[in-house]
Amino acid sequence: MTGPSAADAGFAGLGLVPELLETLTALGYEEPTPIQCEAIPPLLQGRDLLGQAATGTGKTAAFALPLLQRIHDPARVGDDSRTPRALVLVPTRELAMQVSEALPRYGHRPFDTSVVPVYGGQAIQQQLRALRRGVDAIVATPGRAHDHIRRRSIDLSEVRFVVLDEPDEMLDMGFADDLEAILDALPSERQTALLSATMAPRVRA
Ligand code: AMP
Repeated sequence: MTGPSAADAGFAGLGLVPELLETLTALGYEEPTPIQCEAIPPLLQGRDLLGQAATGTGKTAAFALPLLQRIHDPARVGDDSRTPRALVLVPTRELAMQVSEALPRYGHRPFDTSVVPVYGGQAIQQQLRALRRGVDAIVATPGRAHDHIRRRSIDLSEVRFVVLDEPDEMLDMGFADDLEAILDALPSERQTALLSATMAPRVRA
């Protein structure tokens, strides 16, 4: 997708804003991983992405960094009402926790990104309170996300960036109908990134 020049120039060649580059340096990230080199430039340009990447290859940062830069782009954001502008769908509670911790870690400066994890097994009242306070991004498992959409406790009207993280796992876990319903409820004008360990036909579909 991108030529070798992006990799040669490290993170600086991928189009990220200086504050994110400083955060990455502070975290000790020296070079982007292959999936980061492939995914970050097109996502920053607003394109959709179908990426193949296993856990441990740096796939979280591959979608998180462009997500942050896109949802906080001052040219696009009309207000700071904190109606969620990004939705990340993940198969498990563990991954929901991991991704919801990673986003504010990357996005604390200059964005002060707020993220709420939403997953089954946690008291829904706690999630409702957090959602009412307003958030920039939601990281959710499909069953619970669908539940909130039915209760109208998640407002998807401002979501412009959607990530399907490990969709193969989500399908294996029987979330196909929930995923379908969530995607139907999202605004059609949005960017979608899909990162899967496998590219089975049903994932592509
Ligand atoms: P992930 O594949 O997203 O689960 O990431 C695996 C681990 O690699 C996480 O602990 C990240 O913090 C770390 N990581 C991601 N990208 C880089 C990078 N470019 N350089 C060093 N570590 C990284």
